[in-house]
Amino acid sequence: MKLVIVGGVAGGASAAARARRMDEKAEIVILERGEHVSFANCGLPYFVGGEIRDRGSLLVQTPQSLARRFRIDVRTHSDVISIDRAAGKVKVRELQTGREYEETYDKLILAPGASPVVPPIPGADLPGVFTLRNVPDAERIKAWVESRKPASALVVGAGFIGLEMVESLSRLGLKVHLVEMVDQVLPVLDADAASFLKVELQDNGVKLHLGVQATSFELASEGLRVGLSDGSVVEAGLVILSVGVRPETGLAKAAGLELGARGGIRVDDRMRTSDPDIYAVGDAVEVRDLVTGNMELIALAGPANRQGRIAADNAVLGAERIFKGSLGTSVVRVFNLAAAHVGASAKRLARLGIEHRVSWTHSYSHATYYPGAQRMSIKLLFAPSDGRILGAQIVGGEGVDKRIDILATAITAGMSVYDLTELDLAYAPPFGAAKDPVNMSGYAAQNVLEGKVEAAQWDEPAGSGALILDVRTPMEFAAGHLPEALNLPLDDLRENLDTLPRDREILVYCRVGLRGYIGARILSQNGFQARNLSGGIVTWSAATGSGLRV
Ligand code: FAD
Repeated sequence: MKLVIVGGVAGGASAAARARRMDEKAEIVILERGEHVSFANCGLPYFVGGEIRDRGSLLVQTPQSLARRFRIDVRTHSDVISIDRAAGKVKVRELQTGREYEETYDKLILAPGASPVVPPIPGADLPGVFTLRNVPDAERIKAWVESRKPASALVVGAGFIGLEMVESLSRLGLKVHLVEMVDQVLPVLDADAASFLKVELQDNGVKLHLGVQATSFELASEGLRVGLSDGSVVEAGLVILSVGVRPETGLAKAAGLELGARGGIRVDDRMRTSDPDIYAVGDAVEVRDLVTGNMELIALAGPANRQGRIAADNAVLGAERIFKGSLGTSVVRVFNLAAAHVGASAKRLARLGIEHRVSWTHSYSHATYYPGAQRMSIKLLFAPSDGRILGAQIVGGEGVDKRIDILATAITAGMSVYDLTELDLAYAPPFGAAKDPVNMSGYAAQNVLEGKVEAAQWDEPAGSGALILDVRTPMEFAAGHLPEALNLPLDDLRENLDTLPRDREILVYCRVGLRGYIGARILSQNGFQARNLSGGIVTWSAATGSGLRV
């Protein structure tokens, strides 16, 4: 049995190591175009920023360590240029010598990944304009910063890699401009959730250019002059292009393997391509989105590693192991905040015509009486029919990663928001709360589903014609409130019901939605038409960009 693997990083190296553990006798060859195998792509931004100091620690395995421990024949600088499926052979070009040769296979696993998109902008090929995919890219950026000591940088694209590079370059003392075509950062999130990050970026001195495209790069005294679609011009010492990745499908396509509608390699749930002897994994393939059922490109390390393991089992053992799909679970640090996402966003559900409800909660990472509790905002999306969880977005300080993983597990298990209210989660004051933020998000969603409260979203008060009722304290009200709001503190509400209109809807709000919920319950049980503003003024002020600090 001879297994050849194209690409030796996340998916490819996982597949190779698993294949060896499953079959001591197989011949296993990794062909990798680059200089390294099994390196930590995900660590690259932190290497540039200096948090990871030792370049060697990025190299999880080396050709030598893979050979020694796993007896894998690893060939770097080896570009696979074609596949002869009929003959069961690949053609390899040794990039350092130019020599070409053929290598036979019984089974082939393609793990070629995805390459950074370089938009067709004039000057995108100038020195000082970088993309980041591998260790040499990171070293080039680092060397540029160290040798030229630029005062500023401009990052195009506010996705995960863009945000990580913004933080890393800021950490190095550069003034950073962030240009993003859509009108929000981290477009995988809904704009309201992402608005918390916008404030954090601005607070850390990042100049945001949202809803704007970079249109030209020219050499300038500072490094580069960047033209933007709003007519402005920014000078920057270097530019990072992080506008997304494109699956590397050239090899598969030329070999006549089927591609999917999203442009990735088409595989079945065994990670098998349209050729039964060829498997494909990682960023290059389309996988099932577990919430919508659609085939999607999901470029993340976790799925690539899991798929590599499955493809190896199926290739060397003839197993029938299945990759069910992905939830796109992800997390990113943005200065003092973490933002995480799982499943579908509201905008995606809306685009696909999938009915959903939203609940916002702003809980704390741990009991507030124990020092250091940090706010955690959870946007939960769920089906109105049965409360099935469809997605979640969390922004906050510590503990965001833990909660998104709980929600990812819950979605994988097919749980509903009712199940969230029953999760028995660990608690001691330094770690959590007796009502964990995940329980709280379940309670809020349950109240919506059971009609205990009608929820209004942050974009509804303006122009609604409703009476906007702020049930916080007068002191909180004085520090900032919704336009035209009336202040009637929750504890005074029952005594003042006769001052409120019965022929007009009342939109109740508080800081985060809890007192508002109690207020709305009091009002609706007394015959008023009341709705509670989901997430209170905290969601409203972030999402509307009101500038209020609440
Ligand atoms: P890769 O790991 O990209 O490996 C593909 C390899 O195949 C490449 O080394 C390439 O040189 C080689 N190759 C391609 N074509 C050929 C050929 N014809 N012949 C020989 N070799 C070939 N994901 C997360 O989940 N969390 C993160 O925090 C995160 N951070 C990231 C940060 C950065 C800067 C980058 C670039 C990516 C990050 N990712 C992150 C994404 C993650 O790294 C990828 O999803 C994952 O590496 C995909 O694995 P893969 O095996 O499909 O491709």
